[in-house]
Amino acid sequence: MTGQLNARGDVAVLVPAAGAGLRLGPGGPKALRMLGGEPLLAHAVRRVAAAPSVRTIVVAAPAAEVAAVRALLSPIADVTVVPGGAERQESVASALAAVPRDVAIVLVHDAARALTPPHLIESVAAAVRDGLPAVVPVLPVVDTIKEVGPGEVVHGTVDRTVLRSVQTPQGFRHDVLAAAHAAASDLLTDDAGLVEKIGVAVTCVPGSELALKITRPLDLVLAEALLGLADPPA
Ligand code: C5P
Repeated sequence: MTGQLNARGDVAVLVPAAGAGLRLGPGGPKALRMLGGEPLLAHAVRRVAAAPSVRTIVVAAPAAEVAAVRALLSPIADVTVVPGGAERQESVASALAAVPRDVAIVLVHDAARALTPPHLIESVAAAVRDGLPAVVPVLPVVDTIKEVGPGEVVHGTVDRTVLRSVQTPQGFRHDVLAAAHAAASDLLTDDAGLVEKIGVAVTCVPGSELALKITRPLDLVLAEALLGLADPPA
């Protein structure tokens, strides 16, 4: 499972896209919501395919949408589409099972981060290629974060200088991600969390504002505006 580490073509990207997307309001699976005339998933996959290191792309689609997602993505890239699970972690595990054994580096992305620039995909892959077993792209936390208890009573204020907002793609050595999923006993919200649980160090690299997670209705408005910019932020 530790294939040759080449500068080109040594990366598989998993794109879990099987979520219902209820926080965006009614309107079908989030990955298939339209943005600038195209589903979010199409935007995400086009940018993944534009990253030169990417050899394999595996999308986990809602079970009822597998054929439709194949038809949507086939003009964009050579993509394997598998049915996702009830939870994100299950969708990632299904996609991971479809990755060829000789792929050295596996990135786990998120269809909802549809505007993630190819250079971020490359920088995460490069950090793994250069020797880190697990890498997450991050941004500083801008809000003050409070810890609260019952009745929304504040317990304390967290020191935000030690906090990071974590994005995707998260990058892993293939063997590390496979071991983390094999050992998983709880459902976590990201794959780096599973890797932390098996005692492997996870390292932060700079993220990108363009990799925002399109989750709530206002995020779609922002994403539409970003699409229209000739010179968007990095
Ligand atoms: O639920 P959340 O917004 O964190 O989902 C992150 C990503 O995981 C989305 O791209 C969503 O489509 C995907 N997902 C999935 N299977 C699920 C739930 C979420 O592939 N059962």
